[in-house]
Amino acid sequence: MQKSNILIVEDEEPIARMIAMNLKVAGYEPTIFQDGQEALEALKEHHDYGLALLDVMLPGIDGFALLPEVRQYDIPVIFLTARDDLSSKISGLTGGAEDYIVKPFEVLELLVRIEKVLARSGGGAQKVTFLDMEINFEEHSVRKNGQEIPLKPMEFDLLAVLVKNKNIAISREKLLHLVWGVDFMGETRTVDVHIGQLRKKLGLNSHIKTLSKVGYRLED
Ligand code: CA
Repeated sequence: MQKSNILIVEDEEPIARMIAMNLKVAGYEPTIFQDGQEALEALKEHHDYGLALLDVMLPGIDGFALLPEVRQYDIPVIFLTARDDLSSKISGLTGGAEDYIVKPFEVLELLVRIEKVLARSGGGAQKVTFLDMEINFEEHSVRKNGQEIPLKPMEFDLLAVLVKNKNIAISREKLLHLVWGVDFMGETRTVDVHIGQLRKKLGLNSHIKTLSKVGYRLED
């Protein structure tokens, strides 16, 4: 199974296109269907997906009906649900979906959810090469020019978020939320300290840009 292939079934074209564009930037290969029935027919021919994003309300067959069809190929599912459909989210999860995300959502949030589901669903080693570094998400290790650089767990998690969102500006608050899971505005100093450690340990001074009043951006 190609973990990087992601099936998107979403009838709202701007949303589907926005998701696909961002998934491509993040290194995934998205395939879009806007109709549940069409997605179902296509799945019979081709089901080499690492993950499926299913809208709930769809023409043809809705997301809930599509779920068991997708699951029979061992493809993990994240539901994209409108706020109004929230009451139905429980049946979605018990029906075998891994997660759900409420529209409108932030792309970063979606990417993090996708990574978590992909990590849970196992598969081959996930490695990324960035500049002179090899970052292994499974081993939680970083090698620079082949030599392992010891990082503290939160330093590694911060690096992972930056690398997966390279060339994108991320606010301190967002990093705090994504890496530490907290939302205290006052704690953003923690982010600065860890950024400082990454710059020093990995020689990323010129690659991690400080954006005044915004946050940080990792550039290659
Ligand atoms: Ca819809």
